[in-house]
Amino acid sequence: MSFLLGAMRKHIAGQKHLSDSKEVLNVKTPDEVAIPVIAMGKVDLEILVKEGDAVKVGTLLAQRTDHFATPIYSSVSGSVKSFEKRFHSSGAKNVPHIVIENDHQYTSESMPALDYRTATKDEIVDFIKDRGIVGCGGAGFPTFAKYNSVQAADVLIINAVECEPYLTTDYRTLLEHLDDLVEGTLALTKAANATRTMVAIKEDKKELIGRLKEAFTSYQNVEVKAVPNVYPMGWERTLVYELLKKRYDKLPIEVGAIVNNSTTAIALAQAMKTGTPIVEKIVTVSGEGIKNPQNVRVRVGTPISAVLEACGGANQEQTFVIFGGPMMGKTILKDNYVINSSSNSITVLPFEEVDPMNCFRCGRCNDHCPANILPVEIQDAEKAKDLDRLVKLEAMSCIECGLCTYVCPSKIDVTENVRRAKRALSMRK
Ligand code: SF4
Ligand code: SF4
Repeated sequence: MSFLLGAMRKHIAGQKHLSDSKEVLNVKTPDEVAIPVIAMGKVDLEILVKEGDAVKVGTLLAQRTDHFATPIYSSVSGSVKSFEKRFHSSGAKNVPHIVIENDHQYTSESMPALDYRTATKDEIVDFIKDRGIVGCGGAGFPTFAKYNSVQAADVLIINAVECEPYLTTDYRTLLEHLDDLVEGTLALTKAANATRTMVAIKEDKKELIGRLKEAFTSYQNVEVKAVPNVYPMGWERTLVYELLKKRYDKLPIEVGAIVNNSTTAIALAQAMKTGTPIVEKIVTVSGEGIKNPQNVRVRVGTPISAVLEACGGANQEQTFVIFGGPMMGKTILKDNYVINSSSNSITVLPFEEVDPMNCFRCGRCNDHCPANILPVEIQDAEKAKDLDRLVKLEAMSCIECGLCTYVCPSKIDVTENVRRAKRALSMRK
């Protein structure tokens, strides 16, 4: 299977101004948090606590132990109250959650810090694995898995592009934690054993580009790269092509690259300083349907109803609440979900009645698809339940970027139809 980039790029109104100039607000952690027990879609993890057990911030609650090893830590101190099944932002239903009664003391487990300057490559990778640092892509891909089997990468790319409309998580986190970005980037460069590092950011962020260049001025091997303000420039394949003019089949390491998000670098730096795993997230809460759009700092396991309330709640009776941004996120029922370790945004939009028309084969969805597949053909094959054709059309290559829905003049939710095709193929396996 080979991916190519789509023939067209799309500029989308970013709506970043709604939240990008406001400082991050701390959300009060409620009396109970519910920690999702899921790692890369796997839910039958080893559970290490039982009802009534006392826990601290950083107590290991559960773990996935195979090649995608992921520890799940408590974000508060208190006691284990119960085990519940809930929805998860990945789209999975019936995901086990460990409900912890919060004693509001925030007593922490004592865990060693790490000085990456004296640590070896393997020690840094082990630290990343042990502290459960995962990407922000929704699936929670464990970061160590990008580094542990790579002896030396040609280039490490730190992705601060954040191309999804409304999202300003990376931007605000960078502004407020620039020193941590430098430390995290240098540690990841050592973990990758890379001779070259690029920090990629959109060209319209002029002031931040200047500050980044200044922050990295003493490090000759780190370049700050301004990239075009188009969607989906933050997608790994698009970014690797933009920076290296190289295409790959499955993973960026095939062309010598490792790509990590800037917030992952910052999370690593913070974990190295204190020793504790990441138990808090910075999340953009934005959209025309919320009273006070802003970024919030929130503990993992906090219900999103509490997060929305901290932002003033909805400003109208009927809204869409989307876990993620409007292009790649999923519409949810707000009371069923909690913030998890890979959450980065909640978008609240005014409810809008959509009345789709028939497809008139204009081909715009195909022209804009960055994965260079044919969404309209996939949609037809899905309707016809033709699974063999879906395989030929490489439906699984869809990254769910939402562009096909965005550009469709008939207002057809093409992305949802392609998602359905992917689900049908997954169930056949
Ligand atoms: S969501 Fe649509 S445009 Fe985006 S990758 Fe999938 S098929 Fe292509
Ligand atoms: S963009 Fe919409 S109308 Fe045009 S081919 Fe695709 S699904 Fe059909």
